[in-house]
Amino acid sequence: MTAIVWFRRDLRLHDNPALQAALDSHEEVVPLFCLDERLLHGRRRSEARMAFMRTCLVALDEQLRARGSRLILRSGRPERVIPAVAAEAGATEVFAARDVSPFARARDRRVADLLSRQWLELVLTAGLFVVEDPAALRTGSGHPYAVFTPFHRSWLTQPRRAVTPAPTELPAVPLEIESEQLPPLGELPPSCRWTGGEPTARRAMALLLEGPVERYEELHDALSDPGTSELSPHLHFGTLSPRELELRLPLTPGGQALRRQLCWRDFYAQVLAHNPGNVHAEHQPRYRRRIVWEKSLELFGAWREGITGYPLVDAGMRELLATGWMHNRARMVVGSFLVKDLGIDWRWGEQWFMRMLIDGDVASNNGNWQWIASVGVDPQPPARRIFNPVLQQQRFDPDGRYVRSYVPELQHVPSAHLAEPWKMTPELQRVVGCVIGRDYPAPIVDHALARREALARYAAALNLKD
Ligand SMILES: Cc1cc2nc3c(=O)[nH]c(=O)nc-3n(C[C@H](O)[C@H](O)[C@H](O)COP(=O)(O)OP(=O)(O)OC[C@H]3O[C@@H](n4cnc5c(N)ncnc54)[C@H](O)[C@@H]3O)c2cc1C
Repeated sequence: MTAIVWFRRDLRLHDNPALQAALDSHEEVVPLFCLDERLLHGRRRSEARMAFMRTCLVALDEQLRARGSRLILRSGRPERVIPAVAAEAGATEVFAARDVSPFARARDRRVADLLSRQWLELVLTAGLFVVEDPAALRTGSGHPYAVFTPFHRSWLTQPRRAVTPAPTELPAVPLEIESEQLPPLGELPPSCRWTGGEPTARRAMALLLEGPVERYEELHDALSDPGTSELSPHLHFGTLSPRELELRLPLTPGGQALRRQLCWRDFYAQVLAHNPGNVHAEHQPRYRRRIVWEKSLELFGAWREGITGYPLVDAGMRELLATGWMHNRARMVVGSFLVKDLGIDWRWGEQWFMRMLIDGDVASNNGNWQWIASVGVDPQPPARRIFNPVLQQQRFDPDGRYVRSYVPELQHVPSAHLAEPWKMTPELQRVVGCVIGRDYPAPIVDHALARREALARYAAALNLKD
């Protein structure tokens, strides 16, 4: 009996429930990846992420070959490809890891329907999250969670599946089942620090567990001395199992703080699973399509390019352009700046992030953008989530190492002036080679004024009559 393992965002052999389930119940297993043209050309396409994914696929094929198998790559719509390969292989079942986005769920329903016409079943397993199915968690009154803290409490008590090792040998794939060549899929950003693939992801996990995890709680917000795991691209493509990572985390303050962040990932996955409409609209009905946003392409362009005149915002946005990634603290600051200071629709920021991030993930990105825009789950009054970019810089990049590494124009600006370079005297500006308006922009908005306007914008939305 033959099974297909349809790899999607679980590009690994260790702790892969879909692969394990196929091996447990079938003698022959055909590993398949479908290069869906919508990934390459759809609304959420990203050259950087596809280039990263390519490195994951190359590594997966190598891992499979080292065990006697190989990856079958086919391009086209999964609705056509999966039933066709299943028929070629004489498969009886197709295994895949359950995903949460509306796109993935609609795709899987269509594929399952087409397979059922061939008397085949699409079996969806766990594999993408820490708990078996985050969407199955319910409040005491039986509702899905919309607030993180109670979700976290319940999440900690959920049973966990056992972690399985990578198989040492795999059945060979019959020669008649042909694979396409993996085409080039775009370019990684010029200073990208990540390459994909399970071996790289596992090395990164091992390095983290050897020591840095112990300092995670203390350093996770520090921009100048980054202390986060930087595992998000690996978790997004599943070259690392979130469940295995969680299992290996120590029960120390650092390990527990990182465990809590993995819970945010599961939390936003269940939010999206229960609220597919969030991909288009505000989660909170009182704000849904009621906020009047600025439509300035000029301001949006300055934000995207990192030329807003606020050094921390500019450093974050340039980090994204240069590396395809951004530190979480910077993501919050640039997100708040776009939505609250510039008054621009959070969806514009969300889309730009999806285009640029190698860890771009519909559930986490949408959930976090709605959070920072104060329109999503875990609600707080808008004033609580307006980040002052000057104070954030002074607090989280006190010696300016982060800002200076991405905004070279500010290289020689003294640390005391680095968060507000426009306050340097004209003479000092000349001396340090950073004349505001010539070498580095003046702030494009006044934060104090923008803050008042933001609060008025949200208040007006609440006062709108239906
Ligand atoms: C506006 C905005 C957009 C974001 N978009 C994405 C996105 O597209 N993809 C993405 O993976 N994360 C996103 N995040 C969450 C977070 O910024 C990244 O997960 C984190 O910066 C990744 O770095 P790390 O691996 O070093 O994280 P660590 O701090 O080491 O955390 C470990 C893991 O926990 C998860 N995690 C941590 N924080 C969050 C969070 N707030 N929400 C969800 N999961 C979290 C990630 O998988 C991360 O790799 C976004 C945050 C903001 C504010």
